[in-house]
Amino acid sequence: MSTLKIAVQKSGRLSEDSLSLLKGCNINLPKGKNKLIAPSTNFPAEVLYLRDDDIPQYVEDGIADIGILGLNVVKEKKHDVQIDKYLGFSRCRLSLAVPRNIEYQGISFFDGKKIATSYPKLTNEYLKKNGVQAEIHEISGSVEIAPGIGLADGICDLVSTGGTLMSNGLKEVDVILKSEAVLISNPKLSPDKQALLNKVLFRVESSLKANHYKYILLNAPNEKVKTIVDILPGMKSPTVLPLAEAGWSSIHSVVKEDDFWNVIDQLKSYGAQGILVVPIEKMIL
Ligand code: ATP
Ligand code: ZN
Repeated sequence: MSTLKIAVQKSGRLSEDSLSLLKGCNINLPKGKNKLIAPSTNFPAEVLYLRDDDIPQYVEDGIADIGILGLNVVKEKKHDVQIDKYLGFSRCRLSLAVPRNIEYQGISFFDGKKIATSYPKLTNEYLKKNGVQAEIHEISGSVEIAPGIGLADGICDLVSTGGTLMSNGLKEVDVILKSEAVLISNPKLSPDKQALLNKVLFRVESSLKANHYKYILLNAPNEKVKTIVDILPGMKSPTVLPLAEAGWSSIHSVVKEDDFWNVIDQLKSYGAQGILVVPIEKMIL
């Protein structure tokens, strides 16, 4: 019987969401991350806690079968791994930034300049594609202080809110890559392991879909049921049940989170009452 070895970041921005993703897939793990490897208590899997930078290499070598990490690291490392799923968390951008007082007029600003980054390959590729010749200084951390101490004219680094850039007197001028967490796998998994991976992917998809939808229940006067049903598409069609009180019905449906407030406003205007909105844990279509 095979065991699927899953690499996740030991501690950092990806750790918590990676572990809750596994938990949402009903892959339970023992508490505490002091060990390098932890066997799941209810699924044929083992979790390896690693630095995110090491995950692509481990997956390529087959030490781990699959891994969860940022697309930015996958693209920078260029190991032979397969991207199976975009996971929607740890969203960020790999961006070029320059001191705030620079009048930036385009990428040609970087011609002949020095750029500090932990992402030399992606930065170089982007500059090359744009016909810009710049000098890359690879540094492994605190890239954002490089311009301030005279080490570089600009940086290429991960940005999410832009707060770190701002507090270092920098501004974002160009996005090189939009990133989020992804699930990668070794392209040459045995059929047994591939079957386990398929199981995991199916569960991941059900959880991700569920995150985007809400279950909604409401009461409405019977003469408004048709109008309300028309604005609540549901998975097949909404469920309508009579209430104990004559002339009223209960309507149940599934609503996309993006449309949510829109739909609620319309429902209220049609006389809906007692509206309940409930999170959906899994969605199997
Ligand atoms: P490790 O010790 O595992 O190497 P690290 O310092 O490289 O950790 P973190 O800062 O925890 O890593 O970031 C891990 C990943 O989180 C990044 O590679 C990126 O995909 C994602 N991320 C999301 N937002 C940001 C951000 N604002 N800054 C840095 N990383 C971010
Ligand atoms: Zn790292």
